[in-house]
Amino acid sequence: MAAAGGELFLRARGRTLNAFREDKEYEWKGPFYFIQGADPQFGLMKAWAIGDCDNGGDEWGEEIKLTEQAVRAINKLNPKPKFFVLCGDLIHGMPGSQWRTDQEQDLKKVLKNTDQDIPLVFVSGNHDIGNTPTRETIDTYCKHWGDDYFSFWVGGVFFLVLNSQLYFDSSKCPELKQAQDVWLNGQLAVAEKHKCKHIIVFQHIPLFLRKPDEENDYFNLEKSVRQEIMEKFHKAGVKAVFSGHYHRNAGGSYRGLEMVVSSAIGCQLGEDQHGLRVVAVTAEKIVHRYYSLNELSSQGIDKDLVDMLAKQN
Ligand SMILES: [Zn+2]
Repeated sequence: MAAAGGELFLRARGRTLNAFREDKEYEWKGPFYFIQGADPQFGLMKAWAIGDCDNGGDEWGEEIKLTEQAVRAINKLNPKPKFFVLCGDLIHGMPGSQWRTDQEQDLKKVLKNTDQDIPLVFVSGNHDIGNTPTRETIDTYCKHWGDDYFSFWVGGVFFLVLNSQLYFDSSKCPELKQAQDVWLNGQLAVAEKHKCKHIIVFQHIPLFLRKPDEENDYFNLEKSVRQEIMEKFHKAGVKAVFSGHYHRNAGGSYRGLEMVVSSAIGCQLGEDQHGLRVVAVTAEKIVHRYYSLNELSSQGIDKDLVDMLAKQN
């Protein structure tokens, strides 16, 4: 699959991902896996180290090295993952901040070395479009990374990428939140019509970190908003939501809906290692495991997961 420079980053257009032929992907073709990463967030490690998260992100050499290691580890995997999804906070500089352009350029420089057979899927985070996004910040994001929300099919599995900032604070763009809601309802109806094997959601901010009824926090969605989305997902049969934002591994479940929170490629705020999550999808289940970048590059994927993928259905 050949893609010129810019196209690598702009596959999400027209609310779909131009990497898989939709009409060929409705059908289940056997187990596969993909890689989930979150928060490369170029600039946070320096900002965090000097205690100035707003203005301290003027260097990101560490994040460049870590993301390079992530790309090398992914390129070595055999069999190849179907895609590599990055669940937001691609860079640290908020819209309007001075290092943003350089951070984005440097991230693209690293990511373009990803094996061309492994499409990149981008999810917008709060640092990408702002804590209170506007039409302008979202438009700018879309110009660089493709649509902020879209869906795609891979081998009978339906994937939804959502813009979770519209759930976090849509006060400056209520019409965009409304549009995503209408689109999402339509998409869940499509999923039902095509009898997909699983529905999987990607969004930056977790619905919750450990318990569906936990208190509001900087790192989860507000309770009433959360309840509404969880119930909608549950009714539609969504199996799992993968997110980042927390810079730690966490997760829980709500009526059969699994919430998976993955730690960061970049800055760690807890005890986890810089890493990536391997997600294997079989006819019956979704099995996922977080690997440190060192583990994944030196040992690859565990044998039990490889065996699971080798089975015919
Ligand atoms: Zn975030």
